[in-house]
Amino acid sequence: MIALIITAECIACWACEPICPNAAIRVKNEVFRIDKKSCTRCEGYGDLPQCVEICPVEGAIIDDEGTAMNPPGSLTGIPPREPLPA
Ligand code: SF4
Ligand code: SF4
Repeated sequence: MIALIITAECIACWACEPICPNAAIRVKNEVFRIDKKSCTRCEGYGDLPQCVEICPVEGAIIDDEGTAMNPPGSLTGIPPREPLPA
């Protein structure tokens, strides 16, 4: 299983760290990252990765293809706005 990735959007809220069933979330100097060898994407622990379920920040966790697990609008319910014209 390919591990998820925590991005620079992470606000270091600590919500995900204690709930990872595989202790895959490592923290150093308030920077959170997912240990590739330990993350199983929560296989056997429900439908969604537990860190994704609890993370309050859209775009803070992505898959190996760079797709946000909580994409823009998914948590707030506010559709992403089109970029303003230049
Ligand atoms: S997907 Fe599951 S196993 Fe992987 S870091 Fe998140 S909580 Fe841990
Ligand atoms: S729950 Fe999300 S924002 Fe909070 S520490 Fe984990 S990845 Fe960062």
